[in-house]
Parts: sequence; C-alpha cells; structure tokens
Amino acid sequence: MELKKTIRTIPDFPKKGIQFRDITTLIKNSTAFCEVIDIFHRRYRKSKVNLVAGIESRGFIFGSALAYALGVGFVPIRKQGKLPAETISQTYELEYGTDTLEIHSDAIQKGDSVLLVDDLIATGGSLAAAAKLIQRLGGEIVDIAVVIELVDLKGRERIKPHNLFSLVSFEGE
Ligand code: AMP
Repeated sequence: MELKKTIRTIPDFPKKGIQFRDITTLIKNSTAFCEVIDIFHRRYRKSKVNLVAGIESRGFIFGSALAYALGVGFVPIRKQGKLPAETISQTYELEYGTDTLEIHSDAIQKGDSVLLVDDLIATGGSLAAAAKLIQRLGGEIVDIAVVIELVDLKGRERIKPHNLFSLVSFEGE
C-alpha cells in the first residue's frame, strides 16, 4: 500500500503557508496503520531496544503501538507541566520563541537502549530536545523513527549524530 496516499494535507493550518500533514486519515486506515507498525517492528525487533519513547501527542499513537509490538515499555515525553512526578526539562528554539519538553526523571536508567518515535520531523527541534532528555538520564538512543519527513526543513541534520529512519518524505510540496 502506498502510505503517502493515506496522509491528508490541509493547506494553511494552523497558520497561513503551512501544509499540515494530517495522519488521522492514516491511522483510521487499519491496513496503513498496521503497515507502519509492521515496518518499524521488522526494523527493530532484533535490536537491543528496551524502551520506546514517544513525543506528545502523535508520537504516543505510533510509539505505544510499536512498544506493544516489540514487547517493551513506553516512555512519554510531554509538553511542559503535564507530567505529575519529578521531571527534567529541555527548552529549544522555534521559529518564533521557544518550547519546552519534559520527561519523568526516573523514566530512563543509565544503560537503557531507547528508540525515539514521533509522527513527523520538520525542523527536528523537538526530536533533538527529546533526544537530549533521554541522554541526560543516561539512555542511549538506538535510532529515531518517524512516519513523515519534511525533507526541505533539514531536520535530519539537526538531530545528528543520531540516525533518522522515515517512511514517507515530502519535498518541495
Ligand atoms: P519540529 O520540531 O520542527 O521537527 O516539529 C515537529 C513537530 O511539529 C511534530 O511533532 C509534528 O507533529 C509537528 N509538525 C510540524 N510541522 C508539521 C506539519 N507541516 N504537519 C504536521 N505536523 C507538523
């Protein structure tokens, strides 16, 4: 199945000039959703990954399904102020202003092998911040996996030296 065809594009959302890549149409399609999880599962099932971390909120959808398939635990990385126990936080630059992500301080132990998942990489700012949180707790990032890569924004560069695995690319569209 061509996964790209199951992703809906909404022009000018949430603001003018943004082509919003909407994955709700992909996850509603059981064949497409299973295919995404199956591809990720095949890639990581023999790896040393012992935790999947996902970024709020769409990273939770793919990350938790994948954690279940891999038989490993899931760690949520959330926007500021949402996690109830002790957290560490990481602030990163946006086009206008900054944003902050948080993780529970006890979510990852030294030596954990973590697969970081989100729905989409644009500038890579949120994935780079999430990767830092994991590393600050002593976790090792095995790979970063996303469904969609917006190639023109060069997020792949921003998350270096980590490797990016993406399933669908949008370029010059
Ligand atoms: P970034 O930190 O710039 O890589 O932005 C990534 C986050 O913003 C992801 O969690 C996406 O869900 C969301 N995002 C950024 N740009 C888009 C877009 N064009 N369509 C849908 N989601 C987007």
